[in-house]
Amino acid sequence: MSISANGTSGHGGPFTPDDDGLYFVPLGGSGEIGMNLNLYGHRGKWLMVDLGISFADDTMPGLDVIMPDPTFIAEQRENLVGIVLTHAHEDHLGAVQYLWPMLDCPVYATPFTASVLRAKLYERQLAHRVPIVEVPLGGSVEAGPFRVEYVTVTHSIPEPNALAIRTAAGTVLHTGDWKLDPDPRVGPVTDDARLRAIGDEGVLAMLCDSTNALVPGRSGSEAEVRKTLTDLIGRYPNRVAVTCFATNVARLESIAAAAAAHGRNVALVGRSLWRINEAARANGYLHDTPPFLTEHEVNFLPRDKVVLICTGSQGEPRSALARIAGNDHPQVSLEPGDTVIFSSREIPGNERAIGRVQNLLASRGVTVVTADHAPVHVSGHPAQDELVSMYQWVRPRIAVPVHGEQRHQLEHARLARDCQVSETVVPTNGDVIRLAPGPAEVVTQVRAGRWALDGKKLVPLDNGLMRSRHRMVNNGAAVATLVMNGKGELVTAPQIAVMGLLDETIEHNALLDVVDAVREAVAALPRAARLDDAPVREAARIAVRRTLNASHGKKPLTEVHLVRI
Ligand SMILES: [Zn+2]
Ligand SMILES: [Zn+2]
Repeated sequence: MSISANGTSGHGGPFTPDDDGLYFVPLGGSGEIGMNLNLYGHRGKWLMVDLGISFADDTMPGLDVIMPDPTFIAEQRENLVGIVLTHAHEDHLGAVQYLWPMLDCPVYATPFTASVLRAKLYERQLAHRVPIVEVPLGGSVEAGPFRVEYVTVTHSIPEPNALAIRTAAGTVLHTGDWKLDPDPRVGPVTDDARLRAIGDEGVLAMLCDSTNALVPGRSGSEAEVRKTLTDLIGRYPNRVAVTCFATNVARLESIAAAAAAHGRNVALVGRSLWRINEAARANGYLHDTPPFLTEHEVNFLPRDKVVLICTGSQGEPRSALARIAGNDHPQVSLEPGDTVIFSSREIPGNERAIGRVQNLLASRGVTVVTADHAPVHVSGHPAQDELVSMYQWVRPRIAVPVHGEQRHQLEHARLARDCQVSETVVPTNGDVIRLAPGPAEVVTQVRAGRWALDGKKLVPLDNGLMRSRHRMVNNGAAVATLVMNGKGELVTAPQIAVMGLLDETIEHNALLDVVDAVREAVAALPRAARLDDAPVREAARIAVRRTLNASHGKKPLTEVHLVRI
């Protein structure tokens, strides 16, 4: 079924943008912070802005990486004219390496972002297949009916960009992730003159970062963080380790400058730090910072002549800092009297993992310093005063708050109305929003959802597979094996295995109760039913679950194997 683009709607079907209209369709990143995937539609073509991932939390056992379900656009990939990346954070480019083969189109990025992407693609043997078009800072690209201008902004990674997307139906400003910092230390300040000029041309809609829309005031400056770190590192004796987001190149430079001010050398500990260091230096960043030492070289220096920069600010169990905290790192160790500075924020959901690492460190006599103790971190996203400035410069007719949970988006929409923006639309993933012509509105919904990388395979997150894994984790699992003869009689006692619910060596009686219950349940079936597999399986399954629920208060995920001889 094809849905007409001028209002009549259906759910989950295909949708093609008509010639006069300009449409916005988020498939990820609206109603959540993470896995951004935004589509703009015009004249039958689509332009994708960003293709990111999220990280799984404790509610998703066995999974690490989550990404948007791209089916809607993959099914019409002949209409996809390109993927434009705003910057190199995982929530904006992390899914390219998994989903590009389904999309098969050019990828546009500035040089640093392209370097980061190439390194990822290389690891998955995709580097030679994906056509990456490098765009200079402030450059423009033409893709189908879209003319895209890159506008330099500031964020917490080199080369963040807003995009002015021009079409015959109007201009959209897609801000990407941004902030205002009068002294970002690495990279230029947000190009407010260019944003004002684009505003003067007339902007139909602005799609803007909502992450910190609940935070009053301003986000603060990297220069202040550098001062605080310089202060702190001078104050602590012995070895000092700092953990931060690996992609925050300005922070790496700040830590290095703070260390140098006290005659300390700096080492990187953790693979992602080295990867970013390489991409940064290849693109002319960190040129005033001496080469970092390796974790091996650290051990030849006195403990008070070293600052370590470690991965693991979010408590990731396999990260450098988690291993150091657990005294499980092959090269680097911390001792009582050493200090660890968390130069980062807690991403919601990671509090427990971070707390675990901090407890381990504290229990070993290591001093832990966080943003609660000193201003050792500033956010890369705009607080309310910065959002107001952006609205004053760009003056869009329509505000569409993205990159946030609902509470952030709704507060952002309120703020936009306070800034005299006449129309606001708060999107959720899968909404098709018509920006022009006429008043902005959601005209239909298309398929949106979440996929997970499960081992080597991509699987829908909300399907039966993941539901049964959840049940297994929460309630354990049981397998009953029945062997029956041609008359529908059990020829041996049912074999029962229970996993993750009872200890068979000490709860043998409980297991025997299950065996008895299954035997009785099967025997109680009429003869005709015993000759049919389905009722036998179901009776056994219910008996297992009922017995274990009576003894343990849990109904495990139960499988029945039936062998007839
Ligand atoms: Zn970002
Ligand atoms: Zn982001």
